[in-house]
Amino acid sequence: MPSATYYIQPCPVCGRRLQIRVEYLGKQVSCRQCGGVFLAADPTMHRTEPPQPTSELLQRAERLLNSLEVHKLRGR
Ligand SMILES: [Zn+2]
Repeated sequence: MPSATYYIQPCPVCGRRLQIRVEYLGKQVSCRQCGGVFLAADPTMHRTEPPQPTSELLQRAERLLNSLEVHKLRGR
C-alpha cells in the first residue's frame, strides 16, 4: 500500500505550486505559504463536475446513467 500520494495544484490565492495529498481531493485544504483556504481538486482529473453539482435533476440523471451502466455490466 502506497503510504502517501501527492499531486501538484497551484494555490489560487498566492499561485504557488503545492503538494496536496490525493486523499484531500474534494476537501478544503489550506495553503502553507499564504494560509489561503481552497478546495483540493486535481485539474488533471477534471471530468464532468460543475461547480454546483447539487441540482436535483442532475443527480437524477446521474443515478439513471449509473443504473444503465449496471444493467450493461449485468447483461454481459
Ligand atoms: Zn497560497
